[in-house]
Amino acid sequence: MRIGIDLGGTKIEAVALDERSNVLARRRVATPRDDYDATLSAIAGLVHAVERDAGASGTVGVGIPGTISPATGLVKNSNSTWMNGRPLAEDLPRLLGRPVRFANDANCLALSEATDGAAAGAPIVFAAILGTGTGGGVVVNGHLLVGCNAIGGEWGHNPLPAPRGAESPGPACYCGRNGCIETFLSGPALARDYGSAGGVTIDAAGIARRAEGGDARAIECLARYEDRLARALGSIINVIDPDVIVVGGGLSNIERLYAAVPKLWAPYVFSDAVRTRLVRAAHGDSSGVRGAAWLWKE
Ligand SMILES: [Zn+2]
Repeated sequence: MRIGIDLGGTKIEAVALDERSNVLARRRVATPRDDYDATLSAIAGLVHAVERDAGASGTVGVGIPGTISPATGLVKNSNSTWMNGRPLAEDLPRLLGRPVRFANDANCLALSEATDGAAAGAPIVFAAILGTGTGGGVVVNGHLLVGCNAIGGEWGHNPLPAPRGAESPGPACYCGRNGCIETFLSGPALARDYGSAGGVTIDAAGIARRAEGGDARAIECLARYEDRLARALGSIINVIDPDVIVVGGGLSNIERLYAAVPKLWAPYVFSDAVRTRLVRAAHGDSSGVRGAAWLWKE
């Protein structure tokens, strides 16, 4: 049995999978925000709870926002900032009495979808989370590309390619730079764009609904978003040439992206034809937790 944990900013989820990826048990609790020790206990509590539910013990994989720094062994790059600089990779295995594997949450999405999701069987897979932020992960022949800095696939803080007009230098990003992909393609960025174009303050899902209803401003806003996403993914296609690009996160529910964006990315890709497919994550919100379980598949 494989147990996956998805440590999110608002909830922590656990799932236990059998060999055939059937769900044996599932639990979730609210994340004890701003409290590292309580977060640690909550994760351990979930592991024990799903083991009781399933009546078996399992391996444990954990998906986290950010990653474990190969340089220090401590959590880095986490927007759950109370985890940064903490020795999670040392404390949790000690608490559970077994080895634990950790990965970035977007890497877990990539692994989940490449294993038995929307990109199952595809040799090269890029997965992007379009939500509160813009994470990314790469799986090649079923294996995660973690990288020597543990930032493989992290495209969100690259500059938006081919910026035009007001896109340069672009909005300030929390990472200290301007014009990062995340400042154009996250959910809050889309909402901000709609607002600054004269729209009311609503979230990405609301903008998508308005566009479907014929709201011209929402349609223009999504067209701008799709063009930016095409540019940002075009540079990914040039570097790793993925068979499939899987999209997860809240904005993956915007249906029109999957037809619109592949029609727009050709000018940014160095190829006569582009066979890369753009698809929505098959496991939805569960991709992260399933991918964490799959960290023990090899
Ligand atoms: Zn940034």
